[in-house]
Amino acid sequence: MFEFVLNFLFPPACSVCGKVDPNWLCPKCQARVERLEKSCLVEIENKKYEKLLYLFQYESLVRKLILRYKFLNQAYLNHFFANVIVKNEENRKLLKEYDLIIPVPMHKKKMQKRGYNQTELVAENLSKSLEIPSKNDILIKVVNTTTQSKLGGKARQSNIQHAFFVQKDIEVEGKKIILLDDIYTTGATSEECSRVLKDAGAEEILILVLAKD
Ligand SMILES: [Zn+2]
Repeated sequence: MFEFVLNFLFPPACSVCGKVDPNWLCPKCQARVERLEKSCLVEIENKKYEKLLYLFQYESLVRKLILRYKFLNQAYLNHFFANVIVKNEENRKLLKEYDLIIPVPMHKKKMQKRGYNQTELVAENLSKSLEIPSKNDILIKVVNTTTQSKLGGKARQSNIQHAFFVQKDIEVEGKKIILLDDIYTTGATSEECSRVLKDAGAEEILILVLAKD
């Protein structure tokens, strides 16, 4: 009921152009964003993860959409992003080779404040369409760090160090893991999460992000 009243007072609008739309992304803008998709797979050397797959460059429309999705309570956009990932046949084939999806976690304080972890929502969606389990209770964020986007390169690295913890080693041992995040900038978060996952016995890690900065 509350939601109904809220929708009446503030009808859902397209995150890009602002036109009223029940899906929070109008068909026109959806098509524009989809045209920007150019999934790119990068082989990584000298890091704790082996591969990086990103869908978009973090700019223009995509940037606008991701910011709305992250910070303006527009969690429903997770369906759109999950769809973009699996609509690409090559992505699908590649991701099917993995055993487990792990979304980059939020600290529980931040989660309480925001009400949802947008990455978890995409992971759940992906899990359904790829038939790969997604687990939120393996990798835990134990330190409530400053938001990475507010920091420069070096500071990002030290900010995130020792912020994550693997609580069920047995679940990652020998597994090929998809580590899901929204934006890849310096890779500091990816590296730190991968480090603890590898220490816990993970065999291989692919970083999957919506956009690369
Ligand atoms: Zn629009």
